[in-house]
Amino acid sequence: MIDLTGKVAIVTGSARGLGRGIAQRLARQGATVYITDVNEAGVRQTVDELAAEGLSVRGRVLNVADEAQARQCVEAVHAEHGRLDILVNNAGINRDAMLHKMTTQQWHEVLMVNLNGVFYMTQPASRIMREQRSGRIVNISSASWMGNVGQANYAAAKAGVVGLTKTAAKELAKYGVTANAICPGFIETDMTLALKDVKLQGPFATAWDLMVSKVPMGQAGKPEDVANMVAFLASDEARYITGEVINVGGGMVL
Ligand code: NAD
Repeated sequence: MIDLTGKVAIVTGSARGLGRGIAQRLARQGATVYITDVNEAGVRQTVDELAAEGLSVRGRVLNVADEAQARQCVEAVHAEHGRLDILVNNAGINRDAMLHKMTTQQWHEVLMVNLNGVFYMTQPASRIMREQRSGRIVNISSASWMGNVGQANYAAAKAGVVGLTKTAAKELAKYGVTANAICPGFIETDMTLALKDVKLQGPFATAWDLMVSKVPMGQAGKPEDVANMVAFLASDEARYITGEVINVGGGMVL
């Protein structure tokens, strides 16, 4: 059984969706987990709900695209506990548009959160983990990193996350710190449920139906499916696995 007792974790973008599921799972395995998100009310609600389950969770409002805030968050958690064992870079947004119509603002917004935000969190965390000679960095990329229609900004950022992850893995391996990326395929969260409102003409009624048709298992995944992989990568059992890019997608990318 995965035992994270005594470990301290930060999960970004964990007020809802995948991040919430990941935070809940890490806490259920015994970790003290910082629920961090730009959505202040969401942080409060999620902390209350998970604490009511008896889990060790703390809340912190954090915009990962703000370098100073990101550094302060990592340093404050370290100062409070004298350690930082697990960083899960999960916060992400999409601003989809076809390349020929994408605005520069859409490009920058997504790169700021989905790529710069990962760097802003990982750099201070890596300094702590090097010193500590242990640590786990798990980055949530996406199956879209290999390219996806309407997602030039998102795919570029998620591909950047893969490069950052592999570099961190190479640099930190000798310090007992691992860095891996998970690529969810199509997971049921508020981000994807919005596709049920996108009506299509042709064989699929909505963009949700179209996406599900691309999954060999014939259904969207659940946040728990991703959280299970994060919990394993965060554990001592995964000590010899680093620099990997792992699909969790019901066979979507094979
Ligand atoms: P979601 O929109 O349901 O949740 C994202 C959370 O991140 C929200 O709580 C939001 O407030 C927070 N957030 C947004 N910007 C932030 C910022 N600047 N700083 C801190 N928090 C911020 O999305 P989700 O589906 O749970 O996605 C989580 C991650 O998984 C994202 O990185 C996303 O790209 C990735 N992903 C999701 C899927 C999927 O099918 N749902 C597939 C592949 C990858």
